[in-house]
Amino acid sequence: MPTIDLRSDTVTKPSPEMRRAMADAEVGDDVFGDDPTVRALEERAAALLGKEAGLFVSSGAMGNLVAQMAHVQRGQEVIAGAHGHLMLHEAASYAVVVGASLRPIDEQPDGTLDLRHVREAFRDPTDVHDPITGLVVFENASAHANNQPVGSSYVRDIAAVAHQGGVPLHIDGARFWNSVVALDEDPRELAGPADSITFCLSKGLACPVGSVVVGSKDFIWRARRARKLLGGGMRQVGILAAAGLVALRDGDAGMIDRLAEDHANARFLAGALADIPGILSPGEVAQPVGERLDPERVRTNFVLFRVERDREAFLAALERRGVLMLAFMPHNGQIRAVTHYGIERSDIEATIRAVREALDELPATAAGASSSTRAYAGSVA
Ligand SMILES: *Cc1c(COP(=O)(O)O)cnc(C)c1O
Repeated sequence: MPTIDLRSDTVTKPSPEMRRAMADAEVGDDVFGDDPTVRALEERAAALLGKEAGLFVSSGAMGNLVAQMAHVQRGQEVIAGAHGHLMLHEAASYAVVVGASLRPIDEQPDGTLDLRHVREAFRDPTDVHDPITGLVVFENASAHANNQPVGSSYVRDIAAVAHQGGVPLHIDGARFWNSVVALDEDPRELAGPADSITFCLSKGLACPVGSVVVGSKDFIWRARRARKLLGGGMRQVGILAAAGLVALRDGDAGMIDRLAEDHANARFLAGALADIPGILSPGEVAQPVGERLDPERVRTNFVLFRVERDREAFLAALERRGVLMLAFMPHNGQIRAVTHYGIERSDIEATIRAVREALDELPATAAGASSSTRAYAGSVA
């Protein structure tokens, strides 16, 4: 029985086209700036997002980290989402490596940060007690708000708030291309107001490794230095960048446009789950718990929900049927299913059958009940 792995879009395997491009990639020593494939990827990413320059890094976490190191001085403070990746899932690198404090702001159900709260979070630079605000970060798409895509008018507004406060705006765009496709926006419009942005090649775009950071030439120079400091200067890394260049091709030759399929599959799954007794809304960030799952909130490739069963027993019952999902934000009992390259409509149909059977097999409990004593079960990528 083949496994239907819906834990994350990070489980995607490279396409045959990518493997061929990797085998044939022209390479050089990238620390010397000699790798033509890396250079081509960095230029392609920058051009797509309307920025001057790009930098290939090992992961989204490294992308966010080098961006912070390039933007922020030690002892400064970063304003960011309270449930964001930066705050919860990057091993406190903002503190350990950047030397910054973090000022968390609760996300709203649409994935945005309330602009009034962002404005109020700025510190008083004339007060000797205060850290000095150095950066605003927000996620697009916003993972803990059901991976909501956030449109360019909000990006312009939050950039204006950051810039009025005299600091840059960084977008953690791990799943930025999901937002671009879901909103049908010009990526340059969506990225334009931000000073820097990181996106992952290794999630829905199906590359084996890597993220790209883009911004001004001067910013990228500082980020490149930060990457070297972290030990992230890689040599004949065009082997990896080659897959990224395939992912970023136009139209059907690339991996961006096909994200629409993942979104349609996620919406289809959510629509079916919503009609199954025992499945409830996820109660994600700022959402009420215990309502019917609303498929309209599924706008990209995440389906978050709760189940009126013990969560771990439910996940185990699914796994026995060859379906993997993830305990997400385990504090409040959410389950996450993520659609991606390699998951077909027939897999979603099999998943719906497995969910029905797993529910029938288990005794009812309160929604979101969990037998796990671990604060964090499973991965959160
Ligand atoms: C996955 C993710 C990252 C980090 O990417 P890695 O490649 O796993 O380090 C950063 N931000 C968000 C919102 C993510 O979902």
